[in-house]
Amino acid sequence: MLKLHDVIKTYAGKSEVKALAGINLAIGTGEMVAIMGPSGSGKSTLLNLLGGLDVPTSGQVIVAGTDLAGESEKGRSLFRRSTVSYIFQAYHLMPTLKVRQNVALPLHLAGMAATVIEEKVTRALQDVGLEARGNHLPDELSGGERQRAAIARALVTDAPLLLADEPTGNLDSARGAEILELLRTINRERGTTIVIVTHDHNAASACARLIRLRDGRVEGDSAVAGGGV
Ligand code: ADP
Repeated sequence: MLKLHDVIKTYAGKSEVKALAGINLAIGTGEMVAIMGPSGSGKSTLLNLLGGLDVPTSGQVIVAGTDLAGESEKGRSLFRRSTVSYIFQAYHLMPTLKVRQNVALPLHLAGMAATVIEEKVTRALQDVGLEARGNHLPDELSGGERQRAAIARALVTDAPLLLADEPTGNLDSARGAEILELLRTINRERGTTIVIVTHDHNAASACARLIRLRDGRVEGDSAVAGGGV
């Protein structure tokens, strides 16, 4: 699903920063992987490359058969719409839209018919256990429920790759554990490839594999004992 070959990413500025200093990595379809590392180790940069939000300075980033380094901005935009979905620490729901409307948003952007959208949204909300909350505003939900709504929005497009940036960062440990269990279920039942950037050891334990970054390099890459399925 994902293949990185000699990926280097530098940011120009007063002094050049090497955010990624030569990453080689392969992640297979259906894997659930955690990425950990100290602040500044390159985690966000790596996630942005995997999601086609940015391109490497050199090297290859191949996701679902597409070499993103060689794609135009338009090509990457198409790739993002068809292949990737995101969840974030702060949920990123539109505050003025009801939960159903938030979940429907990516399908509206794709120009799908209203009746199909309704069906898909209902199914996604059922899958995350939020069907009773569809007509509420995000403000009226708890943190755990907001993250469920964000996960429903991520599921609704059936993207094969789900990228999660600190998905449990704003939640207490019980709510965090529920979200992790939900992500595990999605991984198991849908075969969605999931990559989670996290500081949360519980999140890493929920994954089958843990990749550690330090100074823009892979410092460790191992199976998690008892993690994943
Ligand atoms: P992490 O997510 O692990 O905290 P980042 O990927 O955000 O690490 O950052 C890696 C390095 O790249 C850091 O030194 C950071 O300051 C630098 N960096 C990240 N984004 C930019 C940017 N847009 N411009 C300049 N430097 C950046």
